[in-house]
Amino acid sequence: MENQRINDFINIAIQSGGWMVLDKVYLKNRLLSLIGEWSEPENTSLEGLPSSTDLLKEMLIVAENNNKVDATNQVAVEILSAEIMELLTPPPSVVNALFSQHYDHSEKEATDYFHLLAINNGYIDGTSLVSKEVDILETPWQVKQKSDVRHKEMICEHCFDSEGYGEMYQRIKRIIRMNLKGESWGFSYAELPLVEEHCEFFPEAHEPITFSRQTMERMLRLLDIYPHYFVGYDAVKNTGKEHGSLMGGAVLVPLFQAEEDYVFDIPGFVTVSASLVEWPISVIRLKTTSKKNLINSIEYLMLRWQQYSYPSLDIMANDESGQNQHSLIPIFRKEGEMLIADLLLVDKGESFERSQAYRDLLLDENSIADRLGIVTITNDIELTNETELLIKESIEEQGVFKKSPEGIKAFIRFVDTL
Ligand SMILES: [Zn+2]
Repeated sequence: MENQRINDFINIAIQSGGWMVLDKVYLKNRLLSLIGEWSEPENTSLEGLPSSTDLLKEMLIVAENNNKVDATNQVAVEILSAEIMELLTPPPSVVNALFSQHYDHSEKEATDYFHLLAINNGYIDGTSLVSKEVDILETPWQVKQKSDVRHKEMICEHCFDSEGYGEMYQRIKRIIRMNLKGESWGFSYAELPLVEEHCEFFPEAHEPITFSRQTMERMLRLLDIYPHYFVGYDAVKNTGKEHGSLMGGAVLVPLFQAEEDYVFDIPGFVTVSASLVEWPISVIRLKTTSKKNLINSIEYLMLRWQQYSYPSLDIMANDESGQNQHSLIPIFRKEGEMLIADLLLVDKGESFERSQAYRDLLLDENSIADRLGIVTITNDIELTNETELLIKESIEEQGVFKKSPEGIKAFIRFVDTL
């Protein structure tokens, strides 16, 4: 009798675009060579069309029963999982060709295809244990839990050389190639997503990315290619990184829902509308249809912010050694023709630092995702009231201008004296 599970798996493989109906027997033979004989489904409770991750779980049991893998050896399990899931992963050339075919219809259709591929083959770990809403200064924040148990093979994760590398999950990683005005760039999804459709954009060249005019121009070019995503410069993540990257994702992060609460003018930029937003962390929002005006106004704001001090609130432009402490984290997105920049104000002073206890909670302590409204903590920590309190306090601590009467007044004074 035919095993329906094997057929289900083969159908997902064919849908991924890498195989044709003629390959069915071949795929079945490859699969059985990895897991051994499979006469009937282990888990009869799976109804309808099971997902590829459900199927993988069953196949690992079959493989264990057939002595094809030692289930107590986590690395061996990951290697076998990657070998199985590789059957659901077309070669890079095919993925890129299909992506551009979909892109001809719409940008979203293309990213939907690529995202689903990375979910189906297990490259993206889509599991979140808890997703809870926590109010921070009357703003709803999402708290998620996730595990990070994958073993990594040492290779620069942003070099194109990492595509298909090694024996574990990088072998099922795929990179979409892009041409950014003559520069070769790559796009892939994050294996442990912190935001919806969390992705990364990176140059092919192994080089750092710093906050500069050129970086902002590249970010806006990426927004032209992916107008339904946001593109952010994740300053924390790029610190000390030899191969830089830009962060992207679906425009669903809570920060973008935050209302504008104080509108002001930036002298010399009449076409740019500027406002503060109702957000626990200090954010300036700019809107304009002109890329050039947007970048010019951000550069102007950056300059003014780098010169600004307010000692009674511990806001100091320079530290004791004269090093500048102030920078901005720009997050760009588009609404129709309108370009929107949310600028997170950063002061590197100790008073605004993330505490060690908070860092220990985070799945990725080097990401700015928490400042966008989504905190992802590791799943070995229980989400108790105490943990929630630590998250609340830590988010508030990262705000440069506090939401106290004095802090609000100082923030307004800063933007009114630009
Ligand atoms: Zn690299």
